[in-house]
Amino acid sequence: MRSSGVVWPDGQRVAVCLTWDVDGESALYSRQAERSRNQLGELHQRSYGPEVGVWKILSLLEKYELPATFYVPGYIADRYVSVVREIVERKYPVGLHGYLHESMDTLTREQEEDVIVRAKRSLSNLLGREPILYRAPSWELNRWTPDLLIKHGIISDSSLMDDEVPYALETDSGHLIEIPIQWILDDAEYWLHTRANRDKPISDPDTTLKIWEREFKGYYEHSGCYVLTLHPFISGRWVYMQTIEALIRYIRKFPRVWWTTVEEVTRYSESLLKVGQLRVKKPVPPEPTVQRR
Ligand SMILES: [Zn+2]
Repeated sequence: MRSSGVVWPDGQRVAVCLTWDVDGESALYSRQAERSRNQLGELHQRSYGPEVGVWKILSLLEKYELPATFYVPGYIADRYVSVVREIVERKYPVGLHGYLHESMDTLTREQEEDVIVRAKRSLSNLLGREPILYRAPSWELNRWTPDLLIKHGIISDSSLMDDEVPYALETDSGHLIEIPIQWILDDAEYWLHTRANRDKPISDPDTTLKIWEREFKGYYEHSGCYVLTLHPFISGRWVYMQTIEALIRYIRKFPRVWWTTVEEVTRYSESLLKVGQLRVKKPVPPEPTVQRR
């Protein structure tokens, strides 16, 4: 098996990033506009995230003195100013996540750029600086997205699934540091439950915990970067908060864990790139191409 090639700082064996995407009700407006007009219920289920879930999450992070990273759509930053301000005051990095959680693969390059500019404006006001982190809504990137991100000052994306460690994605405009993610480390895949998907049963939290623990063990043994993607409107509920707390306790039993943020991992990856110790990848070509590796 190919070794990860990443040596973590201070002899740590694994990097752990807890990340929360504070989507709130944004995605419903952009993806199911008709439905959102008529269904107050689903909008309110989603507003539970910024209204209630975030505050439980901040308490949990405080209890264990853990770093974390938040991704916030511009609309949520505009609407829930005090929530985002609190996250910023607690020194958690905040990254871009669309304006209304748009499906980027349905937009033209110009439209996507407009969304990035608008979202940046909303977040910059609260951060007091321009955001440098990005996660694509639903992890959907267009072929031109990495270029656009670099053009707008973004240095890090966390949306692709081709690795378990950070790497540099080569673009015409320079390198974008990629911090990979995965569906199995995303709470929505197990616990997102709406009227529209009621035929899909809610996953047993203990089974999810077992999956996350086993996956962690693999990352630990192979020096990976374990990125958990969570949503306050989903896992802000008590049963799921207890599951996440159980995972935290499990990980804390391992001796050499770098609890960190996507921003810190990005900076560290940049330093590795400078000395030629970070893998550089090109985007997968749009047509089949034989490329010996
Ligand atoms: Zn999202």
